[in-house]
Amino acid sequence: MRVLKFGGTSLANAEKFQIVLQIIIKKFKKEQIGIVLSAPSTITNLLFNSITLVLEKKKKIKEIIKKIYIFFRNLINSFKTTKQIIKYKKLKKKIKKKCIFLQKKLKIIKYAKTCSDSIKAKIISIGEKISVYIMYFLLKIKKYHITIIDPVKNFITTGTYLNSKIDLKNSKNNIEKLKIPKTNIILMPGFIAGNQNKKLVILGRNGSDYSAAALSVCTNAKICEIWTDVDGIYTCDPQKISTAVLLKNLIYQEAQELSFFGAKILHPSTISPLKKNNIPCIIKNTNNLTSKGTKINNETKKSHVFIKGLTYIKKIFLITFKIFKKIKILKYIELILNFINIHKIKIFFIKPSYTHQKILICLPTEKKKIILKNLNNFFLKDLSKKKIIYFKITQNLSLVSLISSNFYYNHYIIQFIFQTIQKYKKNIIEIDHSLYNFHFLILLNNTILSSFLKTLHQKIYYQRKKIHIFIIGIGGIGQTLLKQITQQKEFLKNKNKKICIHVISNSKKYLFDKKNILNFDLKNLKQDTLKNFDLKEILKLPENFNIQNPILIDCTSSTQIAKNYINIFKKGFHIVSANKKSNTTNFQSYKKIHKTALFYKKKFFYETHVGAGLPIIKNLKNLLSTGDKFQKFSGILSGSMSFIFGLLEKNITFSKAVKKAKKLGFTEPDPREDLSGIDIARKLLIIAREIGYKLELSDIKIENILPKNILKLKNIEEVMTNLTTLDNIFFEKNKIAQKMNQVLRFIGTIKKDGVCEVKLKSISKKNPLYKIKNGENIFVFYTQYYSPIPLIIQGYGAGKNVTASGMFSDLLHI
Ligand code: ASP
Ligand code: MG
Repeated sequence: MRVLKFGGTSLANAEKFQIVLQIIIKKFKKEQIGIVLSAPSTITNLLFNSITLVLEKKKKIKEIIKKIYIFFRNLINSFKTTKQIIKYKKLKKKIKKKCIFLQKKLKIIKYAKTCSDSIKAKIISIGEKISVYIMYFLLKIKKYHITIIDPVKNFITTGTYLNSKIDLKNSKNNIEKLKIPKTNIILMPGFIAGNQNKKLVILGRNGSDYSAAALSVCTNAKICEIWTDVDGIYTCDPQKISTAVLLKNLIYQEAQELSFFGAKILHPSTISPLKKNNIPCIIKNTNNLTSKGTKINNETKKSHVFIKGLTYIKKIFLITFKIFKKIKILKYIELILNFINIHKIKIFFIKPSYTHQKILICLPTEKKKIILKNLNNFFLKDLSKKKIIYFKITQNLSLVSLISSNFYYNHYIIQFIFQTIQKYKKNIIEIDHSLYNFHFLILLNNTILSSFLKTLHQKIYYQRKKIHIFIIGIGGIGQTLLKQITQQKEFLKNKNKKICIHVISNSKKYLFDKKNILNFDLKNLKQDTLKNFDLKEILKLPENFNIQNPILIDCTSSTQIAKNYINIFKKGFHIVSANKKSNTTNFQSYKKIHKTALFYKKKFFYETHVGAGLPIIKNLKNLLSTGDKFQKFSGILSGSMSFIFGLLEKNITFSKAVKKAKKLGFTEPDPREDLSGIDIARKLLIIAREIGYKLELSDIKIENILPKNILKLKNIEEVMTNLTTLDNIFFEKNKIAQKMNQVLRFIGTIKKDGVCEVKLKSISKKNPLYKIKNGENIFVFYTQYYSPIPLIIQGYGAGKNVTASGMFSDLLHI
């Protein structure tokens, strides 16, 4: 025996009824089944509202009836084509009869100007009955044998007309007495039951889940399936948190806590009867038949999802009682609980604070009026008798709950929770937790609910690390980086990482997407509709759109952006930089940038400032952090100089070598920028500062290989022709070197005392720099650990691909 309950959304129209029919037929092939039906979605609400509309004379009864009748007539209209027209007419007649019944009841209400709970119950449960008529018809024309259970006669309850509890023992007796043949499909309207006098009562809103649980117990079902329009229970409301994950398994208690603390998927009374009788419950989706759904039973499966849910209830308020010292807190709690009990109010938590002589109670806002009305009467005398000093109400609160059966064994998760609480501390009102509880409750101001949930969810279910980037500067390197990121999407996905690009900008315009810019056709950056580049505005985006851990990627060489680094860190960004200006300003600013990053706990990565993608800074940092001591450094730090002096070896003249390097794009448009040695000096400065030397750019000694007259020239063409005047000088120098079996290299050195030099040197075969040409770079570090054989890093030290990949690697390390 298996019980299947179909909710309103699964019965919303004719097509949905057909899907449900197919599910029923398939399941019935294997075993006997009991079907519990809800009203088609919106119908219960319509019926509910009809009462108010009539009482407030806002709508004519006729119109209400017409609307409901037309809804059902349209729903069954497509079933007309069946050959069994007599059965169809019978169905239509039954629906009509129910509408006439409704009309009569509404008229009574209209004249009486009031509606008793008994009539209310009858009215709002009409939808369930009609669902059963329709399904009976559909099964009948397929020639199935059916037994309809009348829950009013068979489900005995205690409670009120609008909220009753089923007496399972007696109900089970009744159902057993029916002796339903094994060959029959059982059909029953949900939501409805009967009181001791066999009068119709209902089980509270969304009560058909509870009906299904009761039917499962009464028929000894081995499973209870709840069919709805979502795949199952998620780690958080998927409407609020797009990354919420479907839970495959829950134990009964976890499911109970989830629904108590706001998860809207199950009626809160559903689990308890199933738990007592050890009947598993599965939540399934009529819109996605292949999904396995969520299974609730008592098997604790090992799972990496250890917090089972993050639920929230929005309308909450808090009462704080301040108690006189002589009064015992526990005694007073008893008093409060009695009061709460009398008024049958659900309470979320009650918490004593012994040090402050306070008691806090967290309650649903919908009951605020009743509570406050009675509270005054009840406690005023305590105020006068000096039992309490005051009581205070705090409103507009939300209650977030984390549900897990495992808090005790996974303390580390508590740490994540507290980290998030710390971040939002100004708006957190109270927390309630004990390691043995299944829940961890956080009471907070409504205003931060969404943001808090998002942060906490991300922290706990770090399923896929999201890396949020803002790219500034979209020249060759920026574009290559974007290309590489796109290419690596799948690879990163398999590594549980996702890069979300929020900003792409050039110096004039910027594109923004709070989720991810998927289509970055760079032509878009020219559109007039785009916002003008404004760093200040860009820096505000993470806060405005709750983007966590943003990374600014500086692909510019802009002094202006470099000047803003301190500000960027303060705004909560990490920085990945290719902009050398940020590390080569005066020492004071340099220090301030690095200190700010440290202070705000932000990462500052700039591997590409030296040797492009070659891991120079990374390795240097590692050596120094692990206690190695620097001794000396030498290297070829410029691809263009490596290329030019490599050619001289082949007896090519100096001017021709520069021309060739320029043509192949190895030099800057004005080759003097390379030849002057300033770029090498900047890189040396960055390395030296990394080692700890307090140096300015002007401290780096540069041996200038260009005479003043060439440096002064305005026109690049002229520079190129004038370079021939140097051919002889270099020819001679090269000849001398060759005679000694040496080569000319333009190198950078740092000595132990921090003296940095950029100069042309003739070097022998033994020197590792000897072989470096064709644009290659080399970095040779002698340290305490790396001597006498040095640590050597060599390879291409310039170019779009290697530089972009260096930045890419930096951002993956944040
Ligand atoms: N139709 C009822 C309601 O909307 C019962 C149910 O759907 O479970 O509350
Ligand atoms: Mg429902």
